[in-house]
Amino acid sequence: MKIETLAIHAGNHGDPTTGAVVPPLILSTTFERAADGSIVEGRDIYTRASNPNRRALEEKLAALEGGSEAIAFASGQAATMSIFHSLGGNSHVILPDDIYYNTKVIIDNLYANFGLTCTAVDMTDLGAIKRAIKKNTKLIWVETPSNPSLKIADIQAVVKIAKAKNIMVACDNTWATPFFTRPFELGVDLVMHSTTKYFGGHSDILGGCVILPPAPPAPDGGAFLSSSKSSLIDDRELVAPPSGAAIRTFQTVGGAVPSPFDCWLLSRSLSTYAVRMPVHAQNAMKLATFLEAQPQIEKVNYPGLKSNEYHKVAKKQMRNGFGGMMSILVKGGQKEAMELASKLKIFKHATSLGGVESLIEHRYSVEGIHSTSPENLLRISVGIENIDDLIADFEQAFQ
Ligand code: PLP
Repeated sequence: MKIETLAIHAGNHGDPTTGAVVPPLILSTTFERAADGSIVEGRDIYTRASNPNRRALEEKLAALEGGSEAIAFASGQAATMSIFHSLGGNSHVILPDDIYYNTKVIIDNLYANFGLTCTAVDMTDLGAIKRAIKKNTKLIWVETPSNPSLKIADIQAVVKIAKAKNIMVACDNTWATPFFTRPFELGVDLVMHSTTKYFGGHSDILGGCVILPPAPPAPDGGAFLSSSKSSLIDDRELVAPPSGAAIRTFQTVGGAVPSPFDCWLLSRSLSTYAVRMPVHAQNAMKLATFLEAQPQIEKVNYPGLKSNEYHKVAKKQMRNGFGGMMSILVKGGQKEAMELASKLKIFKHATSLGGVESLIEHRYSVEGIHSTSPENLLRISVGIENIDDLIADFEQAFQ
């Protein structure tokens, strides 16, 4: 089935009891056992371990990304933590130098006492990746397009380097989403999403997920195992992290789980995901082309532009367009960038991305003193409003 159909039907089993086409919301945290106290087959036990709405959501997420299984979390950060946690102490991670900054904060700050370390490299520089590999490197983390410079890492090339050293590759596919980039087809071992963004699409649900690969990799293709799918943990699968089972355990025992209502709402939002995405991309392409021609703009970072240094690799790797995210460098500095953002009326000056509404943000001031973002950079999440209105908004702001 194609992605448009999967977005609507995957995981949607309605309600066989009532015949409801839309699945019901099951808020109960606990589920009754049989008269003799045994667990009723196919029935949930306790909602942290599993529940019907989360199961339905996970089925949809796995189908959209083309994975074998999805593990849903209460936020993108919780999903990322589950991966880092599963690596075990004294592990080393290579990640992009312009990664979503809080991903790196997890390693530098939250996992500092675990001996988890990382090296930030330019993921478009394959030599830099090779040089960063250490004896204890267990994971290469790819985020493409990167945040906020929209660099495009060549996933296949990164995977090749990683596989030669038996290192796992994870891809944060939050920005591209499977509509534009399909990391499993390019050889990655697992995919992570902040579902808060395009999957949710309406800036009203926080969530995240990890998706396991479609089939177990070849013996020399990394140590990744599929999870047992059972809410009961099989300890034998925990001996060789990182594994799908370890990530599932982090979810069910660690407990950073989305509520049934969040799962229900996200499943509902995903029904329109595949019709939202092309509009984001078409609007972004037109806006990027317009902005590139404006004298007030020094540079537009959008991989769809022919002038963009990553256009060639983006064309090879991305499909259906180049996504809805871009960043612009405003001529001048922070003052000029802030002034432009404040004059826009439709674009809201706010953090986050991927919603139906257009947002603009000055990343340097958000990321703080350790930010590597240029001071004149504004990140734009292009929404699905009429593109003429979005361009007119910039025209009035430039006057
Ligand atoms: N990954 C990327 C690329 C993001 O942009 C974000 C949030 O902005 C996250 C991960 C973290 O997700 P969340 O805010 O849902 O925890």
